[in-house]
Amino acid sequence: MIKRIDHIGIAVDSLDEHIPFYRDVLKLEFIGIEEIPDQKVKIAVFKVGEVKIELLESTSPEGPVAKHIAKKGPGLHHLSFNTDNIIDEIAGLQKNNIRMIDDTPREGSHGNKIAFLHPVSSGKVLTELTEG
Ligand code: ZN
Repeated sequence: MIKRIDHIGIAVDSLDEHIPFYRDVLKLEFIGIEEIPDQKVKIAVFKVGEVKIELLESTSPEGPVAKHIAKKGPGLHHLSFNTDNIIDEIAGLQKNNIRMIDDTPREGSHGNKIAFLHPVSSGKVLTELTEG
């Protein structure tokens, strides 16, 4: 079952350039920076209530975030819903003919399990499930 919005991902060209706005101007709680080699990104995480904001900087021109920026420019990238059982959630979506990018979960930040839905099935909004 989906429990809440886990985080909102924002694609940026440079974490260093954008961290000060969220940390020093908006004064959001800065959790830290983490690299996720699997997705070729470095993320800066902030907390707003229960929801996190993740700034995403690509570590490779071949990474999905770099490709997104090349196509659409920087800005809002994806919305992530927290679920208590990602396997059940994926099965339920597939039963409803929702197309997945990830049919099986893979490792996201903080060792969480994640899976992306295909934006064709979610009104062009890149949507992620997170368990953990
Ligand atoms: Zn995410």
